[in-house]
Amino acid sequence: MKRALITGITGQDGSYLAEYLLDRDYEVHGLTRPGAGDASDPSFWRIQKVRDRLHLHTGNLKETRDLEDLIQSIQPDESYHLAAQTFVLNLPEDESAILKFNTQSTHHLLLALKAHAPDCRFFFAGSSEMFGHAPDAPQNENTPFNPRSIYGVSKVIGHDLIRYYRQHQGLFACTGILYNHESPRRSTRFVTRKITSTAVKIKLGMASELRLGNIESERDWGYAKDTVAAMHAMLTSESVDDYVIATGQTHTIQDFLERTFGELDLNYEEYLVIDPELYRPREEVPLVGDSNKIKSQLNWEPKVSFEEMVREMVQSDLEYFQRMLQ
Ligand code: NDP
Repeated sequence: MKRALITGITGQDGSYLAEYLLDRDYEVHGLTRPGAGDASDPSFWRIQKVRDRLHLHTGNLKETRDLEDLIQSIQPDESYHLAAQTFVLNLPEDESAILKFNTQSTHHLLLALKAHAPDCRFFFAGSSEMFGHAPDAPQNENTPFNPRSIYGVSKVIGHDLIRYYRQHQGLFACTGILYNHESPRRSTRFVTRKITSTAVKIKLGMASELRLGNIESERDWGYAKDTVAAMHAMLTSESVDDYVIATGQTHTIQDFLERTFGELDLNYEEYLVIDPELYRPREEVPLVGDSNKIKSQLNWEPKVSFEEMVREMVQSDLEYFQRMLQ
């Protein structure tokens, strides 16, 4: 039986990946942050279904000692580093916290693996924000990085660490450059889930408006379960490499709105309030990924369409809020 260690197991991707690996008979270990508490902790809602089948450990990803003890005792075959500070408020204190956590955690995990489980395969969750202000679209593995957020910078540094440990320390370590991917388990702080949850609340009479910034912004939105399948394909491949994981298609926020409200027989224009405070700078060149490399080399491609994904998110929110009202 293979053993896998997942950091960020309580997040959207970590929880789907845990289920994906359990279905393939892995022994799944997850690292949660100190103070996360027990199974009743609210941040555990995404793994509630499989909680009894997981081996959860508490540890601080910034402490080398915690990680060394953990890796030494688990001896994982595969390790997926998904924990990251993902939500950015652009405050100066936020910047240092993001940079510190996202880079140190990656470095300390690589150090611990090199010392105690050098044959373990390591996946690092990179981001399309590494391309930031991209020179052209679509982006692929050869597109130069030009991050325009501290989060993007932290992911470029993480990726440099991956390359260093792969090329000079002999680890099977790779980066998946992930484009946005969504699901019913996305946090409501992100625009897609903010839209589906608020639209459902409007439908049920629990809200009256939806406040958003520029709805012309485009995204390459994939489905989280497809993304975790790509992560696994990368770590079970014969050779180690980095890959762009994307759908190659863009949709605007307006498309997302129309589809979401359409699922509920509502017209979004009646409820949308454009709030200039929520405006985000628009990419001059859209962030859209070219996944031909992973398609041709690892036979991975997205299975769930944009339309199916939005429908699932709306249905899930509908069931959730209807239960709340009962
Ligand atoms: P989530 O925000 O849903 O999950 C993040 C996870 O990281 C949670 O388990 C969270 O733990 C953990 N975490 C955050 N900060 C800390 C900390 N200081 N100490 C310990 N754990 C921490 O993210 P996703 O699942 O959506 O993303 C997974 C990875 O993929 C991330 O690395 C992200 O940067 C990357 N990515 C995601 C994209 C997307 O569209 N979803 C796009 C591009 C990249 P807790 O539950 O305790 O808060």
